[in-house]
Amino acid sequence: MIRIPCPYCGPRDHDEFSYAGDATKVRPADPAAATPEDWHRYVYLRDNPRGAHLEYWHHVQGCRAYVKVLRDTATHEVLAAGLPSDDLPFEDLEAGR
Ligand SMILES: [Zn+2]
Repeated sequence: MIRIPCPYCGPRDHDEFSYAGDATKVRPADPAAATPEDWHRYVYLRDNPRGAHLEYWHHVQGCRAYVKVLRDTATHEVLAAGLPSDDLPFEDLEAGR
């Protein structure tokens, strides 16, 4: 069981949430100038890391907010969580590997 700390509701079981995707993907800055390869990479290509991973979760059975979660994929430990606009310490963890 994963306990996700929703910024509005507090800690809740992950059953109340729906996984909403990889939060490390960045949309092409200039969509009109992006190549098909840029769009393919943004839409379809995903890493499957073991360890810290930045994800979006949707609090479907709660406040319906999107939450950005830094989760260890091996242990399911939630390392940090916040609003989608928050900067979580993901880059610091990546550099420390
Ligand atoms: Zn919530």
